[in-house]
Amino acid sequence: MSAAIHALCLGEVLIDFVPTVTGRDLRTAEAFQKAPGGAPANVAVGLARLGGSLTSGMIAKVGDDGFGRFLVQTLADAGVDTALVRSDPANRTPLAFVSLAEDGDREFLFYGEPWGTLAPADIDHAAVAAAGLLHFGSVGLIGQSSRAATWAAADTASANGLTVSFDANLRPALWPDLGAARAAIAEGVARSSVVKLSDEELAFLTGSDDPAAGRALWHDRMRALVVTHGAKGSTCLTRDGQVSVGGFTVQAVDTTGAGDAFMAAFLSGLLTEPDAPVEGLCRFANAAGALATTRRGAIPAMPTRAEVEALLGEVRL
Ligand code: ADP
Repeated sequence: MSAAIHALCLGEVLIDFVPTVTGRDLRTAEAFQKAPGGAPANVAVGLARLGGSLTSGMIAKVGDDGFGRFLVQTLADAGVDTALVRSDPANRTPLAFVSLAEDGDREFLFYGEPWGTLAPADIDHAAVAAAGLLHFGSVGLIGQSSRAATWAAADTASANGLTVSFDANLRPALWPDLGAARAAIAEGVARSSVVKLSDEELAFLTGSDDPAAGRALWHDRMRALVVTHGAKGSTCLTRDGQVSVGGFTVQAVDTTGAGDAFMAAFLSGLLTEPDAPVEGLCRFANAAGALATTRRGAIPAMPTRAEVEALLGEVRL
């Protein structure tokens, strides 16, 4: 097995309040359960669950309150290093109330700013330089301070030869305008060597959801550009070509966190078995994404390596 690689995930970590009874909207829900969330945090937990020679840590800032302490504890309990999670006495931990109605429509109601208050001064550049991977998404690019912090960390990561990974994870409702979202996501792509986009995000950036359109985003430092197609699986573009791998058929109950489980598994495979064929990486990641849909929530749904391997039918990378 290769030497340990430390993967740092940077960005939002917040509390999702989800109705205790499925199928209720925010008007009719009577009680909500506190669920830890935030896409980069989900990926950090996903990496920790997959284990192997990849360890994970989180770079974030939470409020100096009970919710913030709950989030730090949740990450630590999941095996994520929280030494770089700052606590902010001046701001509260952001919250989101999320409902999934019978018709599949999701409602989000945010309290506080989900991108949080991470600032450039919060970045421990020595810790970033010593890691093997930096992963981030676009929600952290919405706020001015968190965006500056993200770019500062990404600059240090690039200068020190880290793999820089970006999941577009577009949340249109959070942006003041879609032009700003497009520009920030394009910059995230330009700064990263591994990029994940959904079909919709690819179309948002290029005008087409044909994976081949991703070639327009290709740049010299890129190693992989992955486009996910929900239940249908994923396509990975590499320098030399592209490969599509079909998804797994599972009993999906909640697709929250599927993309994050996919991302964690793809990164885990790419970094720990760099010579593995891309097709195998996509299969491994598709299996992780599929498993995440079979359980409610995001962090609780991140699969272990044993679960992914069981779904793959014991086929190892
Ligand atoms: P995101 O959550 O980022 O929008 P997707 O919905 O495309 O991303 O899901 C990521 C991956 O998770 C997919 O490529 C697929 O492998 C897996 N996946 C998602 N939804 C399902 C599903 N309903 N059944 C099986 N696999 C799924």
